[in-house]
Amino acid sequence: MSKPVILVVDDDDDARRVIARDLDSRYAQRYRILQAASGSDALETLRQLRDENESVALILSSQRLPDMNGVEFLSQAKAFFPHAGRALLTPFSETESAINAIQNSGIDDYLIKPCHPPEEKLYPVVNDLLADWEARTHPPIEGVRVVGSRFSPEGHQIRDFLARNCVPFEWLDIEREEARRLLSTEDQKASRLPIVIFPDGTQLVQPTNAELAEKIGLKVHPEDTFYDLVIIGGGPAGLASSVYGASEGLHTVMVERHAPGGQAGLSSMIENYLGFPAGLSGADLARRAVAQAKKFEVEIVSPQVVTNLRAEGSSRIVTLSDGTELRCHVVLLATGVEWRRLDVPGLGRLVGAGVYYGGTVAEAFFCRNEDVYIVGGANSAGQAAMYFSRYARTVTMLVREASLSESMSRYLIDQIASAKNIKVRLRTTIVEVHGDGRLEAITVFNAANGEKEKLSTNALFIFIGALPHTEWVAKVVETDDHGFILTGPDLARLRGNGHVPRNWSLQRDPFWLESSQPGIFVAGDVRHGSVKRVAAGVGEGATAVQFIHQYLASAER
Ligand SMILES: Cc1cc2nc3c(=O)[nH]c(=O)nc-3n(C[C@H](O)[C@H](O)[C@H](O)COP(=O)(O)OP(=O)(O)OC[C@H]3O[C@@H](n4cnc5c(N)ncnc54)[C@H](O)[C@@H]3O)c2cc1C
Repeated sequence: MSKPVILVVDDDDDARRVIARDLDSRYAQRYRILQAASGSDALETLRQLRDENESVALILSSQRLPDMNGVEFLSQAKAFFPHAGRALLTPFSETESAINAIQNSGIDDYLIKPCHPPEEKLYPVVNDLLADWEARTHPPIEGVRVVGSRFSPEGHQIRDFLARNCVPFEWLDIEREEARRLLSTEDQKASRLPIVIFPDGTQLVQPTNAELAEKIGLKVHPEDTFYDLVIIGGGPAGLASSVYGASEGLHTVMVERHAPGGQAGLSSMIENYLGFPAGLSGADLARRAVAQAKKFEVEIVSPQVVTNLRAEGSSRIVTLSDGTELRCHVVLLATGVEWRRLDVPGLGRLVGAGVYYGGTVAEAFFCRNEDVYIVGGANSAGQAAMYFSRYARTVTMLVREASLSESMSRYLIDQIASAKNIKVRLRTTIVEVHGDGRLEAITVFNAANGEKEKLSTNALFIFIGALPHTEWVAKVVETDDHGFILTGPDLARLRGNGHVPRNWSLQRDPFWLESSQPGIFVAGDVRHGSVKRVAAGVGEGATAVQFIHQYLASAER
């Protein structure tokens, strides 16, 4: 197979040749640049490429074509290469129709013609689209292969870890002949599975996340012992503060327990984050943010759990689960929230064996033609339902409330209403989970008619409320009754005399995002009163850095 193709479609010969030339000068080493002057010629080219088993990474099409418009062409092109990036080339005067096309036809982006100078008007968008394509389609066979059985919790943990860290992998069920050929008879025993096979032929048997991380080149141990800023948590808030902190000269390390991206990294499609009209997946957002953080030399340590935090004079000391201590001037707590556990008979022993908390992207592959159940009625559950509806035969949302509008955004309610294979059962809760070693059925209770019903299924995904899990830090910083950390004026209001926070010894008031312990700041979902949204977390992460500068500059520490 030759290099993947970038196809430029425009009937304006000069414009098309200039774009093709600019693309060629930047991307020729890795991509082949092809051109077509009409929609039908371009579709014929795509047909041939598909028949010859070639790959197409990106299609750029003018909106004005002689035989059809660019949106029609790009919609038809999707049938040939569903994963290829697709963007419209449009004159400035038609920007609005390009934006509509993005909303209505799922086209990825648009470029305003003429795309000159290419360094500003062409390459940034093309770079993004090619990076997205590579992340989506990296041929799995060149990457990591995991052999195991679908309903093993260890297998789920490996799938989840690799997916969240954007490592392309191929899952091979041990029932498949191809999987058995890769392993010795001894290795095929259930007690040895799952086994992860790397491109160089080496294997890891039942690896922990830390072992996998070392193998795929993640940094599990910090390089230094003293930093200006230690960020705990790599969700949107932590990532934003790491980018702002490091770009403004702070020696910054970010410690993350699972994988950068946090909850947002679990989202199959974020549609309300500013600047991405076609939406972007949580994995894309995390990948872009990590690249940006690394550009500014943020040290990302992951997977690694922070287990303790204390203050000694003007130093703050962070302890990792392996006992390593990091000293610093300032700590930012951005530990977010995690799913609440569902307390239902039979459920606990099937987690990872058909019952999953979150886990959308890593598990979707198994849900082809299955009947999937989702617990929850908020945006995260709605997004998951939309995502699974592409794979599953049916998706049923089990929602405790009497309507979705109590907790879900309008755009998602509309999408769910128009998806033919999604059913919503309101006022419905799960009361029992059945299965021996793997999920086989659930019993649901309908509060509207008082009836119970047993439903067969292999896949149950839980997306209910979230808790901050700040027990480990509650001796150091003040929290509210649910464990969310108090900051700024809330400290005096809720844990003080209304004017001064309890045990606060400094002359100045705490900064807005500062906790009850000077020099320990808080951003994102873990903060009392925060807005639980990606943009809000990013905003707080960025804002915290401003207060951190003020703290570092102040005489009172
Ligand atoms: C499935 C899903 C879909 C969503 N969709 C949207 C959407 O479309 N639009 C929107 O605006 N919002 C959405 N949200 C909400 C949004 O993702 C969150 O508001 C946002 O991620 C909060 O960011 P954060 O950085 O505060 O916390 P988190 O994203 O929760 O990140 C916190 C990080 O800290 C890490 N951590 C925790 N404790 C420790 C420790 N002790 N040591 C080291 N690391 C630790 C965690 O592993 C985690 O990665 C969605 C959430 C989910 C779950």
